[in-house]
Amino acid sequence: MDFDLSEEQRIFQKAIRDFAEREIAPLVEKAEEEERLPLELFPRMGRLGYLGIRYPEAYGGSGADKISECIWAEELFRICRGIATSLFAHSHLGTFPLFAFGTEEQKARFLLPAIRGEKIAAFALTEPNAGSDVQAIESRARKEGDGYVLRGSKMFVTNGTLADFILAAAYTDRSRGFDGISLFIVERGTEGFRVSRKLRKEGSRSSETAELSFEDCPISAKNLVGEREGAFRDILKTLVEGRVVIAAGATGVARAAFEAALQYSKERVAFGRPIGQFQAIGFKLADMATWIEIARTMIYRVAWMVDQKKKCTAEASMAKLFATEMAEKVTNEAMQIFGGYSQMREFPVGRYWRDARQLKIGEGTSEIQRRIICHQLGLKTD
Ligand SMILES: Cc1cc2nc3c(=O)[nH]c(=O)nc-3n(C[C@H](O)[C@H](O)[C@H](O)COP(=O)(O)OP(=O)(O)OC[C@H]3O[C@@H](n4cnc5c(N)ncnc54)[C@H](O)[C@@H]3O)c2cc1C
Repeated sequence: MDFDLSEEQRIFQKAIRDFAEREIAPLVEKAEEEERLPLELFPRMGRLGYLGIRYPEAYGGSGADKISECIWAEELFRICRGIATSLFAHSHLGTFPLFAFGTEEQKARFLLPAIRGEKIAAFALTEPNAGSDVQAIESRARKEGDGYVLRGSKMFVTNGTLADFILAAAYTDRSRGFDGISLFIVERGTEGFRVSRKLRKEGSRSSETAELSFEDCPISAKNLVGEREGAFRDILKTLVEGRVVIAAGATGVARAAFEAALQYSKERVAFGRPIGQFQAIGFKLADMATWIEIARTMIYRVAWMVDQKKKCTAEASMAKLFATEMAEKVTNEAMQIFGGYSQMREFPVGRYWRDARQLKIGEGTSEIQRRIICHQLGLKTD
């Protein structure tokens, strides 16, 4: 058993950390304040292969392993959860189904330009009346001529305001339940497609989130992902891996809060001593460091399982559950350590705390992760 990162992974870690600190950090304050995603990052990151860490180099990606993708997420989320969320929605949710199931034509038209940062991707599953309960989606795509006509609406779509294409889930056959859901590529400019509204959020403000509407959109059969109707269940299975990336991102947010709190505890003086010298504060920091360490160790192990092609449905949910709940605790403790200054917007701890809170909701809530773990343990929960 080897717990060390490989030479290649270490070099990558340094490169992506330097990139995030040099290229992303200076954009964060304005992006968060204006609630706008800095689009200039996309071509820059595309040129470096940073929009397709696990996609082959021949596609313009980095051709790296899952552990490297987790390193990518931790470093980016550490600098800005909002921007990193958009990058994740683009380079995983909105493109992985094309990589794993798309036709050569779909790859050439959508995946490759997305990896280069020339087109922006989004993934639209959630609806105003259906989030955790995927089977309750109301969007329909009815067959008409050679293609389909899509009708419905989608909620909370990351990159929805600016995506060039959106992978949207809709029923092609309601009577088949889950097996009747299909995934379509909807291109910006398609007749009947519109952004109903940009949503204003508590956390993750620099990622743009939208409600979308599809009013009888004509969709070519060539834009059906996976080439057959009802492939969504298989596609969704591959997205389990996304939970591991979000877990790594949560570790990044927690690390940002921990690093800030540690530094502050050495500088802030009360009762004649730096506050870090009070056991009550020192023990908090010791716990925070411990929780982060546990999460990262667990995440790397699940990432290793993905790389070894081992089944890891339960482990991916455990990592997502633990790391996101841990991030909430760590950011909360960091707020306490910063005292009154935690409430001042000139310090970023408030942002870390707001950003951590949503991690327990997106990509499957904590309750849904527990439900998945129960099923994997052979327990039938309601
Ligand atoms: C900032 C942000 C970005 C997002 N980006 C995207 C995106 O790009 N694409 C996309 O498709 N979606 C996206 N989402 C949606 C996200 O995945 C959903 O919010 C999430 O799946 C939960 O769905 P919901 O909000 O409808 O909550 P609900 O499903 O309505 O759940 C409400 C509460 O009930 C609980 N609950 C529901 N069912 C059960 C059950 N069976 N057992 C126990 N508890 C249960 C939930 O855990 C939760 O606490 C995003 C959300 C946010 C906030």
